[in-house]
Amino acid sequence: MNTATSERLYKEAEEHIVGGVNSPSRSYRAVGGGAPIFMEKGEGAYFYDVDGNKYIDYLGAYGPIITGHAHPHITQAIQKAAENGVLFGTPTKLENQFAKMLKEAIPSLEKVRFVNSGTEAVMTTIRVARAYTGRDKIIKFSGCYHGHSDLVLVAAGSGPATLGSPDSAGVTKNIASEVITVPFNDSESLKQALETWGEDVAAVLVEPIVGNFGIVEPKAGFLESVNELAHANGSLVIYDEVITAFRFMYGGAQNLLGVTPDMTAMGKIIGGGLPIGAYGGRVDIMEKVAPLGPAYQAGTMAGNPASMNAGIACLEVLQQDGVYEHLDLLGKKLEDGLREIISSHSIPATINRLKGALTLFFTSHKVSNYEEAEQSDGKLFARFFQKMLQQGIHLAPSKYEAWFLTIAHTEKDIDETLLAAKRAFSEMEE
Ligand code: PLP
Repeated sequence: MNTATSERLYKEAEEHIVGGVNSPSRSYRAVGGGAPIFMEKGEGAYFYDVDGNKYIDYLGAYGPIITGHAHPHITQAIQKAAENGVLFGTPTKLENQFAKMLKEAIPSLEKVRFVNSGTEAVMTTIRVARAYTGRDKIIKFSGCYHGHSDLVLVAAGSGPATLGSPDSAGVTKNIASEVITVPFNDSESLKQALETWGEDVAAVLVEPIVGNFGIVEPKAGFLESVNELAHANGSLVIYDEVITAFRFMYGGAQNLLGVTPDMTAMGKIIGGGLPIGAYGGRVDIMEKVAPLGPAYQAGTMAGNPASMNAGIACLEVLQQDGVYEHLDLLGKKLEDGLREIISSHSIPATINRLKGALTLFFTSHKVSNYEEAEQSDGKLFARFFQKMLQQGIHLAPSKYEAWFLTIAHTEKDIDETLLAAKRAFSEMEE
């Protein structure tokens, strides 16, 4: 495969853009290095790169792209917004329309606020939880990613009742001391942490279905225990649904699982591919937000007509009959095919799938928390990633990411992908 133009553009990018990428997850450092592929065009389930190569896309832009690239209904909505003016700095009726759609889909959102990214949405839910409870600390789960605001860039301490240490230079020890990290799917550790830090804990923050160390579902009863333990302690429960909202059904993971948080952060899919974030929850909590309450949060671009129109159009597409059934069907076909390949080779691998999202871990053990996901062999993944890429299958360049299906993928795409995966496994075994 000729990727000369990508290589040239990457060299140029390195001269002007730090690390040559505008988000570290786009770098190929975790998969052997080299130039990331520069895309020129996306259409449906496919990417076309600057050298004219075609790929089946399972990156889905790290989650937002669920309708396929350049879906005509969303494209028209963006065009319409562009013609009418993309930013007013005043309220528009689109914001009302979209807020109502979100509330109807996810009933725990009694009031919402639009922001510009998932990072902003999560960051603000934490501020609001602190304002509501008058407490400072939060509890999060190891391996869950909640954007790049200071507070959530904190790694686990050595035990459930240990305060975190900064995960990134520039995050102060003081900030890290506000965060307690416990293992996902481990109610006992959460209980211990709450017993230790009790009245200091404003909120427990969780991805209800994890998307950031692969797709990992909560064990039966885990989220119920999060609610019970947090509430008994006077702490709020915040769901980070930046990946999960509208990924598995029309609504949030909370609808699917039948559990209700106090506040929810969203992003990705709800922008139809344009920048967006939103947060919402119980009205008595949300009324702590300015201009009604003392917790300040604002945004020049927040609720802009282009993102609103794209988001509304995306949800309209997702309201159509059969959308999620199609994603589940294709997901199952992909999972079944990959399992067959795994069973006929000696390479250790396992799969976690929920509907149209899956992760292939290079470990023979089941993965239900971050520590288990870490066991996935990064070197094997890197080889698999490169072999798939060479055959025109575009995965995310990290062993921790999910494969995201879109409604534009077809059974033929899955067949092609499985053929490529079979070849990759056979070559890796040699
Ligand atoms: N929360 C979760 C669960 C995410 O996966 C991400 C991004 O990957 C974020 C928050 C941050 O969102 P954004 O990249 O839009 O700031």
